[in-house]
Amino acid sequence: MAVSWAARTHPGLRRAKNEDRFCAVPERGLFVVADGMGGHAGGDVASELAVVEIERVVRATAALGQHDTWPMPFDSSLGRDGNILRAAFVGANQSILDDADASEELSGMATTAVAVLLAGLQATIAHVGDSRAYLLREERLTRLTGDHSWVEEQMRAGLLTAEAAREHPWRNIVTRALSGAGDLEVDVSQIELQPADRLLLCSDGLTTMLTDDDVGRIIDDATDLQRGCDDLVDRANAAGGSDNITTLLLAME
Ligand code: CA
Repeated sequence: MAVSWAARTHPGLRRAKNEDRFCAVPERGLFVVADGMGGHAGGDVASELAVVEIERVVRATAALGQHDTWPMPFDSSLGRDGNILRAAFVGANQSILDDADASEELSGMATTAVAVLLAGLQATIAHVGDSRAYLLREERLTRLTGDHSWVEEQMRAGLLTAEAAREHPWRNIVTRALSGAGDLEVDVSQIELQPADRLLLCSDGLTTMLTDDDVGRIIDDATDLQRGCDDLVDRANAAGGSDNITTLLLAME
């Protein structure tokens, strides 16, 4: 099964710089979106460190043979790719901690990350924070990740509606991030893909501007992946573009 991909990142209309980053390593089946956090110094440094370190660890662990020592405790509930992504996120967290400790200016920097690692039709998804993964299958968009965010926790507790969450002044507050804090908890899941499935990775600059229905329709209507990414960014900007926007689309063929 071949995978094709496209991506677009845009600062949006209100932010001076783009603190989102993405990386695509199609030969390894790895795709990542990271959103460096506003309000922290060095958000762009954190998101850059995250994508670089995640790619480095995934490449390094891919080269490990059956009898090599795994670089961290192996969690048998996750499978090999789940362990690889978890190790990559823990590595990124450590890398952010090291740089933040070495520079007062970067102290407190943080980033979200969402990553997919493909092996044939198996997709392993890992995330921390409020960047998301979605599956579009037969015109239906399904969210694959639950945000680690204040508004989502309120929604899960039944205290906030989706509409209110979208407007809430605290909608950008993330409750889990790659920030160098110890004991990082990474959400890892797996799905079996089908031919013609599409996957979307995105930052919250997209999802705070557009509903899931809008996102699904735009991807479904797009004639190709790049057009899909461009249309998503254009529509998020047309809706206000209040934050950096990153979209990364994958298609199984
Ligand atoms: Ca953001």
